[in-house]
Amino acid sequence: MKLVLATKNPNKVREISELLSSYEIKILSLDYFPGIQEIKEDGDLFRENAVKKASVVCEQTGLITLADDSGLEVDCLDGAPGVLSSRFAGEDKNDEANNKKLLELMSGVPAKLRTARFKCVMAVAVPDGWVYTAEGACEGIIAEEPRGHGGFGYDPLFYLPDYGRTMAELDLEIKNKISHRFRALAGALDILLELQEIDGME
Ligand code: IMP
Repeated sequence: MKLVLATKNPNKVREISELLSSYEIKILSLDYFPGIQEIKEDGDLFRENAVKKASVVCEQTGLITLADDSGLEVDCLDGAPGVLSSRFAGEDKNDEANNKKLLELMSGVPAKLRTARFKCVMAVAVPDGWVYTAEGACEGIIAEEPRGHGGFGYDPLFYLPDYGRTMAELDLEIKNKISHRFRALAGALDILLELQEIDGME
């Protein structure tokens, strides 16, 4: 089976390729399709954005396509920053500014109300028009101040009580086993393996 990854992010391409490496799935990143324009993520839900990206790229390539969308949901902020996670503090997508804004908005919120989760939705679009989705989440607490230098995005503020560390203090190997992205990818893999059993899927 050939699978297009609807992302230009090399980290995502590597992560997904690694997980799928023991299956007969040939991964094609968007670098193989230079004619495809950037797709605007303008949905209100992770699912909407992932489905849109997968469907558009599938339509243009004629191949099974995997796309994802992810972000942080904070309960005391009614699920914000959500789909705006990367652009929370502005269009320049600055992680440090996003974290600063989050801390300011949550100033004075007590520990037990600082619950949050990272969420990821993966969408698999097939050329006959169907789109299948899988979700993954990782629960945590927004810390009072940033800690750790690993990871990216909101990792320095995302505290995992079971590990006594923020996501930015965690070994990448552990992060990759518990992350929202990994969990969604495991669901996407099940979908791909089922599709692989269907005759004629290329
Ligand atoms: P996207 O799915 O690449 O569009 O990610 C959206 C945004 O969500 C990122 O820019 C980060 O701000 C945030 N985000 C998603 N996944 C993670 C993660 O694993 N750690 C920290 N921040 C994340």
